[in-house]
Amino acid sequence: METRIIRIEENIDLQLIAEAGALIKAGGLVAFPTETVYGLGGDALNAASSGKIYAAKGRPSDNPLIVHIADMKMLHRIVTEVPEAAYKLAERYWPGPLTMIFNKAECVPKETTGGLETVAVRMPSNKIAKALIEAAGGYIAAPSANLSGRPSPTAVKYVIEDLDGRVDMIIDGGEADIGLESTIIDLTGKEPMILRPGYVTEEMLKEAIGRVDTDRTILDGDYKQAPKAPGMKYRHYAPKGNLVLVEGTAAQVVSYINEQLTGHKSRGAKTGVIATDETVNDYHADSIKSVGKREDEEQIAKHLFRVLREFDDEEIQVIYAESFESRGVGEAIMNRLLKAAGHQVVHLSEFCP
Ligand code: AMP
Ligand code: MG
Repeated sequence: METRIIRIEENIDLQLIAEAGALIKAGGLVAFPTETVYGLGGDALNAASSGKIYAAKGRPSDNPLIVHIADMKMLHRIVTEVPEAAYKLAERYWPGPLTMIFNKAECVPKETTGGLETVAVRMPSNKIAKALIEAAGGYIAAPSANLSGRPSPTAVKYVIEDLDGRVDMIIDGGEADIGLESTIIDLTGKEPMILRPGYVTEEMLKEAIGRVDTDRTILDGDYKQAPKAPGMKYRHYAPKGNLVLVEGTAAQVVSYINEQLTGHKSRGAKTGVIATDETVNDYHADSIKSVGKREDEEQIAKHLFRVLREFDDEEIQVIYAESFESRGVGEAIMNRLLKAAGHQVVHLSEFCP
């Protein structure tokens, strides 16, 4: 399949958006920018389109897709009821990086929800995404626009790398602002429950609706119990090299990682380190990349997936990463890093970084 790649500037070209929307309405696939990461979009109410999304990504079909909408009116048509908490959350955080799970209406095909009776819904704030959803008829099912198992794409060049020749169109809308996927909250149980941490933090959710639980499989790598978001059980975001996370004080982490690097280098392995601005000059790996200043979690979130992809491009075989505080946006950062590392963590002290 020939993939058409188009660029849409700040001043949105509505003719191009109409063409992209028509492709989706006709059952085609269009990769497009959102504020979180790039999405791979198809008509959410067309079972065949969802089937194509799974095929293009190589994604297991029990891993449900998020349905993207452009305004609140559209929500009511695809869910059986909208709980009070959803209105409160939508008021504060929609449009934005928050996905809510509802009981699905009949019109949402099981192919879109991975066989579940519930549906995940998000209203993105990115202007191109909003215009595209409207042009496509109101409902775009879109997982991240990467091949299954690879880090989510935060720039169009990674979408092209993974999906050129597998989708009808790719829209280049510049770099993703946030760089991590949305927070997912399930509103179908007794208590609202976070299934995936993201940019909208637990504290922010609590501010809006009070009590919020967290699916405990998110951070502790306890695979005996299946995570409630089916997609969280897969080893996502994985770089090609072996990634190990190291926890401890800055001095401990630097000296431990350098010691390990010496061993790997003597065996001829190509090595990399995920560092911060504070430590980037302290390592002696083949490739050392800072994700930003340690206290600037937003920058770290924005750069993490790009750095993982760059290590792949450089064919790095052994990667060590510093750890981050599991609070606020840090919880999402650590969740993605732990998954990328397959939960390989070295704890150097009781100190919680
Ligand atoms: P992605 O589209 O790649 O960001 O992945 C979407 C995530 O949302 C996956 O982890 C899914 O398992 C999760 N998800 C989507 N729909 C549901 C649902 N109905 N119930 C629970 N998790 C869901
Ligand atoms: Mg994904």
